[in-house]
Amino acid sequence: MPDLDRSRLTELLAVEQAAYTKGHPRSRELFEEGTNLFGKVPMTWMNKWSGGFPLYLDHARGNRISDVDGHTYVDFALGDTGAMAGHSPRATVEAVARRMGDLGGITTMLPTADAQWVGAELTRRFGMPLWSFTLSATDANRWAVRLARLATGRPKILVFAYCYHGSVDETFAVPGVDGKAESRPGNVAPPVPLDLTTRAATWNDLASVERELAHGDVAAILTEPALTNIGIVLPEPGFMEGLRELATRYGALLMIDETHTFSAGWGGATHAWGLEPDIFVIGKSIGGGIPSGAYGITEAVAAAITGHTDAGDADIIDVGGVGGTLAGNALSLAAMRTTLGEVMTDDAFERMIALGERFEVGVRGVIESRSVPWHVVRLGCRVEYLFRPDRARTGSEAAAGQDDELDPLIHLYLLNRGVLMTPFHNMALMSPATTAEDVDRHTEVFGQAVDELIGRGSGG
Ligand code: PMP
Repeated sequence: MPDLDRSRLTELLAVEQAAYTKGHPRSRELFEEGTNLFGKVPMTWMNKWSGGFPLYLDHARGNRISDVDGHTYVDFALGDTGAMAGHSPRATVEAVARRMGDLGGITTMLPTADAQWVGAELTRRFGMPLWSFTLSATDANRWAVRLARLATGRPKILVFAYCYHGSVDETFAVPGVDGKAESRPGNVAPPVPLDLTTRAATWNDLASVERELAHGDVAAILTEPALTNIGIVLPEPGFMEGLRELATRYGALLMIDETHTFSAGWGGATHAWGLEPDIFVIGKSIGGGIPSGAYGITEAVAAAITGHTDAGDADIIDVGGVGGTLAGNALSLAAMRTTLGEVMTDDAFERMIALGERFEVGVRGVIESRSVPWHVVRLGCRVEYLFRPDRARTGSEAAAGQDDELDPLIHLYLLNRGVLMTPFHNMALMSPATTAEDVDRHTEVFGQAVDELIGRGSGG
């Protein structure tokens, strides 16, 4: 943003930080008391909330969160998609309570009748005929990556620069100067040099994908249908089709992770755009907040896996490296069944996407009327603004559009006025509980933030 007055930005950030500290004494106290926690928080990433310490949760329902200092927020972060169904949706809570209470049996190592119902529903939505369950999207990706190597007999995974698929060792790669995959900045102690496990390509650049596939050692291309963890970077027309075609031509599997892009519709981008993955991964929202994940495979992939296990060289039913004791437990299956069956319904998606459109129009109106060189992108009910004038084409371009001062300022400004955005970037997600008034509230406060920033001074 060339014309931005940086000293004004710094001043505003200080004002908002002071207001945050003053308004949240109890959260601050609890943070200071966390002396037996690494980083004072239950998970170190919780320190990424702007303001110096996180809000502490008191209660949450639908798209409202209340903190321990008595403030209530319209929540567009929705647990970074984990709560896309809304917080504690009534139907899910009842099913989970029944399983925990009246029925009993949270983890027994035994299947329940819910599993086939959920498998069939995932097939209706995403097309894959065969499913396995996990406790997180990370688990699903890790195990599916192993299965892809088993099915193809090839060692490497191809990923795109600035992708994110959870803490999966193979994926923290960017293309290096010589084209070889190298560790991306900040990757915590990779076990081996990344070029041993990974080939890295550039999003929206099919030539880079083909160049890497041509080595003949890629088991699977692992990608989201749009990058969503570095802002939203949509695929250009033909890119996803090109990936499918190249994967087939070079004998690699196409593995699509829709953990975030489920926002595109009731059947994710896979249904909305007619994609044809060989392996499909999803997590976070499908259990309504109860730890859940799943991966689906085609009959052909299943046959390739079984072919290997029949030969006795891979143990996929015990300690061979695929699966977990709590995976497929009765509680998360009950949660998935109810969340998919009663909360994240096809109708709910229609309403959520209409609200996403309203959010996008509101943000674009603010950007245009204030002539700030920013833009807004939407994928179904997921909307994000980036501080660069035009859409990023690649992960690296999107990374360059991040602004270490503007991101927290906008975030904190909104938070101090009762609107929560995802802390790691300016992403908003609509839930079945979100209303048009909630969306308009964001537009109003976002407009005030920009006015203060450019000195129009209508203020908050
Ligand atoms: N896949 C994608 C696309 C994600 O964005 C994430 C997390 N942000 C994951 C997988 C991992 O999810 P989890 O941390 O819940 O395992």
